[in-house]
Amino acid sequence: MKKVLITGAAGFLGSHLTDKFLKEGFYVIGMDNFITGDKKNISHLADNPNFEFIEHDVTEYIKIEGDLHYILHFASPASPIDYLKIPIQTLKVGSLGTHNLLGLAKAKNARLLIASTSEVYGDPLVHPQTEEYYGNVNTIGPRGVYDEAKRFQESITMAYHRFHGLETRIVRIFNTYGPRMRLNDGRVIPAFMGQALRGEDLTVFGDGMQTRSFCYVDDQVEGIYKLLFSDYSYPVNIGNPNEITIKDFAEEIIKLTNTEQKIIYKDLPVDDPMQRQPDISLAKKLLGWYPKVEREEGMLKTFNYFKSLSEEELHKSEH
Ligand code: NAD
Ligand code: UDP
Repeated sequence: MKKVLITGAAGFLGSHLTDKFLKEGFYVIGMDNFITGDKKNISHLADNPNFEFIEHDVTEYIKIEGDLHYILHFASPASPIDYLKIPIQTLKVGSLGTHNLLGLAKAKNARLLIASTSEVYGDPLVHPQTEEYYGNVNTIGPRGVYDEAKRFQESITMAYHRFHGLETRIVRIFNTYGPRMRLNDGRVIPAFMGQALRGEDLTVFGDGMQTRSFCYVDDQVEGIYKLLFSDYSYPVNIGNPNEITIKDFAEEIIKLTNTEQKIIYKDLPVDDPMQRQPDISLAKKLLGWYPKVEREEGMLKTFNYFKSLSEEELHKSEH
């Protein structure tokens, strides 16, 4: 049985990846320190004999007994309010954490896939974003802690690949959503859905003309899985190119949730990218991958998940 280590396993993407690898017949070691994750996301695996969990901060030395074949490094705060609240941990998990995982991969002769992000393109001046684009990042702005940690993560990963011949993969993930997102993580989908469920107005930042392109989690997981088993070591965009302005998106959510609430406008956060859309030609060509879940279907599944949460969880998310 092949063994895979998934860091960030108690988080949104890490827990879905854990489910996928278990379903595909792997033995999974999940690792997390719960800084932005939740035990609830993996509680259904407590009795699974092919799953074990290690509570550990990946910025500290990592020890794994026996063989290890694959590593997926997904540990990192991922939402703007999280990484603004814990900026040093964000920088450390992308840099020191990645260095530890590269060392572990080298020692075990394992293949390592790292979770990079569309944020490496910053506030992009090229649209849609192709993998060749070098990006437009404000290194010293508040988002720099995340963007630069991820850019460093890509650089050190390529250095291990080139210098040590390590088998590495880099996925540049574009805004992904679905069940198990934290209602209070501040990202736009949980924010709008939480507001609709609590009967609050939907907060659009800026004039709402900034765009995003939202990918459903099942599509994202499938793309990552295919990339891991490809033979391509350079970064690959995985996301859904269906782009929408945040204002139109708020209106879609109002319709979907059937809420009476209206839109209110708040200040745009510093360095908030004005447009974002993945060019996925490479993923299509290389992996035969493209997203299959339409926004309407994915949003409905996500809303049903948030609706199933308790009143207590719903109100815990006010901030
Ligand atoms: P998440 O916050 O739900 O999950 C991250 C997990 O990592 C959490 O469970 C957290 O506790 C854990 N973690 C953080 N620091 C750690 C540390 N030092 N040691 C051990 N565990 C630690 O976020 P997510 O949306 O699931 O994102 C997962 C990964 O995917 C991140 O690397 C993120 O940068 C990347 N990503 C996500 C998106 C997206 O749209 N969801 C987009 C681009 C990139
Ligand atoms: N946003 C918003 N209202 C909110 C939360 C976010 O208008 O309550 C906007 C945010 O300014 C950004 C977009 O929605 O332009 C996506 O934000 P998110 O935090 O989900 O992810 P990002 O892509 O910025 O990392």
